Amino acid sequence: MNGRGGTLRAMFTFTSPLRRAAVAVLLAVAPVVRAADANPTQERADRFLALVNSEYQAMITIEGNAQWDALTDVSPVHDAASEVGSKARAAFLGNPVVINETKALLLKRSELNELTVRELQQLLLNAAEGPMTNPQLVSDRIAAEVAQASTLNGFEFKLHGKPITVNEIDNLLESSTDLAERKAVWAASKESGKALKAGLIKLRDLRNGVAMELDYPDYFALQVAGYGMTTDEMVKLNEQFMRDLRPLYLQLHTWVKYKLAEKYHQPVPKLIPAHWINNRWSQEWTGLSEGADLTPFFKDRTPEWVAHSAERFYVGLGFPKLPQSFWEKSDLYPVPAGSPRKKNTHASAWHVDLANDLRSLQSIEANPEWFKTAHHEFGHIYYFMNYTRDEVPMLLRTGANPAFHEGFGELTALAAGMAPYLKSLGILPPDYKVDQNAFLLNDALAPGVPFIFWSSGVMTHWEADVYAHHLPADQWNARWWQYVRDFQGIEPPEPRGEEWCDPATKTHINDTPCYYYSYAIAQVFKYQLNDYIAKHILHQPPQSCNYADNKEVGEFFRKIMEQGKTRDWRVILKEATGEDLSTRAMVEYYAPLMQWLQEQNKGRPIGWE
Ligand SMILES: [Zn+2]
Repeated sequence: MNGRGGTLRAMFTFTSPLRRAAVAVLLAVAPVVRAADANPTQERADRFLALVNSEYQAMITIEGNAQWDALTDVSPVHDAASEVGSKARAAFLGNPVVINETKALLLKRSELNELTVRELQQLLLNAAEGPMTNPQLVSDRIAAEVAQASTLNGFEFKLHGKPITVNEIDNLLESSTDLAERKAVWAASKESGKALKAGLIKLRDLRNGVAMELDYPDYFALQVAGYGMTTDEMVKLNEQFMRDLRPLYLQLHTWVKYKLAEKYHQPVPKLIPAHWINNRWSQEWTGLSEGADLTPFFKDRTPEWVAHSAERFYVGLGFPKLPQSFWEKSDLYPVPAGSPRKKNTHASAWHVDLANDLRSLQSIEANPEWFKTAHHEFGHIYYFMNYTRDEVPMLLRTGANPAFHEGFGELTALAAGMAPYLKSLGILPPDYKVDQNAFLLNDALAPGVPFIFWSSGVMTHWEADVYAHHLPADQWNARWWQYVRDFQGIEPPEPRGEEWCDPATKTHINDTPCYYYSYAIAQVFKYQLNDYIAKHILHQPPQSCNYADNKEVGEFFRKIMEQGKTRDWRVILKEATGEDLSTRAMVEYYAPLMQWLQEQNKGRPIGWE
C-alpha cells in the first residue's frame, strides 16, 4: 500500500485521532500588534492571534516530532510520547478561553479584515476535535474514538474459521478466479462491520454533539465548513460530478461487466456482483487494462533514483532544491531485512514545524507505483515550501481546501505517468509505442471514474444521511446498499440485512468521518489543472504531455500554492484557470476513451435499470 490510488490518504500530515484537552493557557498579555489598524476590535484580534499563531506553531512542532518518531520507529514509548504531544496540542486548541474569545471576535467580524476572519474561522475548525467548553463530551468522545480504533485495528478476520490478514484478503481478491472462493473472501472482509456498529452509533452522536458545541448543526456541517460550504451545497456539488460523468461511467460499467463475465465464464449480469471486483468496496476497478503495465521498464533503476527524479521534476519547474535537512531527516526507503526497527509503510509528507522542517515517510522501491507516489508526496512538500512565507500566518499554512493538497499530489502523479515524460527520463525507450486506449483505460478505472461514484456517491451520501439527516441505525445497511446499487451499479452476492454494518468496514467511516468528498474534489481538480497546463502552457494534448523543465508550469503551481489558505479556494481556482470547479476537463480528458468504449459496447445493453 502506498499513499495514493487505492489507498488515498486522508492526511498529508499525520494527525492523531486522539485529541484531548486538559491544561489552561495564559492569554492575558500579548503586546504584539500585527497591523496598524486603528479600530479596537482589530487590535484585540491582532494581539490574540499573534499569541495563538506562535503557540500553535510550538504545539504542532512538538506533536509532529513525537508522531514522526512513533511512525518511523514503532514502540510503546514512542506511542506514549506521541499521545502526550497530541494532548498538549488539543489542550491548547480546545481551550475554552481560546474558543470563547474566537467566537466573541467573530461576532464582530464586520470590524475585522478578511485575513483575520479567516484565521479565526480556522481556529474554530481546529478546536472541533476537543472543545473544552464541554469537558464531559470531549472525554466521552475520546474514549469512544479510542475504543473504535482498537476494535478496528485489532479485528481478526477469519476465512473458513482460520485467521486471515487484510493483505491476504486483498491478494486473494486480486488473484483468485474461483468465484466461490472470492465470495467467501469478500464475505469474510465484511465481518468487522458487525463489531464496529455499536461504537459508530455512539460516535455519530458524540461527534454531532461536538459540532453543536461549536454552533454547527451537525458534524457533517462542521467538516464542510472547511470548504466554506453547507451540507446541502456539498451534496449537490457531488451530485453534479456524477451527472456529468454518468455517460462515461455507464460505458465503463458495461465494458467491465462483459469483461468480467468472460473472465469468470458467467452470463452477463445487470448489476456487477461486488465479489467480482478486486477492491473490497469496488472503489477502484484494477487489473483490467493489460496494455499499460510499465513495471518491466523500472527494473534497472534504484529507489534513490526514483526519489531524486521526483525532486528533479520540481527543480525543473523552477523550484529550489529540497533543503539538505529534508534528505537527512526523511525516511524514504524500506527498512532493511533483519532490522529490528518497524516503521509505518504508508507514504506521507510532513511539515513538522510549519516552517523549514520538511520530511517524507515512504518505502520507495523502483517500480511505477512508487515513482508516482514519490511525485505525489513531493507535491505536498513543495506546497508546504511555497506557503511558508511571512505573509501566510501559521494557522493558514495549509491547502486552500483539503482537496487542493491531495489534488496537487495527484496532479503530479498523473503527470509522472505520461509517456512523453517517461520517455524524456529514459524510462521508456524512444521508440516505445504507446497504446493510448490502454493508458486511458488504466487511468479511468483507478483512481479516475468509478472512484467518483464511490466517493461522491456512496460515501458522501451515506455519511450526510447518518450525520446530518439522522438516519436511524436500523436502516444503515439498507441505505448503504441502495446507494451502492443506484450510484455504482454494484450488488452484494447475497442480501445484506441490518445484522451487518457494511459501511463500517471502511476505515474512513470510523476514523476520518464526513471527509471523503475531499478525494472526489481532488480528482476533479487534478484534471482541471492538467487541462489548463496542457492547453494554455504546454500546447500539448492533456492525455499525453510533458511538464518537465517548463518554468511557466512551475509559475502556475507557485501562484496557487503560495497563498495557502489565506483566500477562498474558489477565488484562487478561478484566478488560476478561469473556471469554477467543474468536471468539464475530466470529461474531455476521457473523450477518446468514451469513443473507444462506445465502439466496444456496440449492441450491448447499457446501464442496469
Ligand atoms: Zn497525499
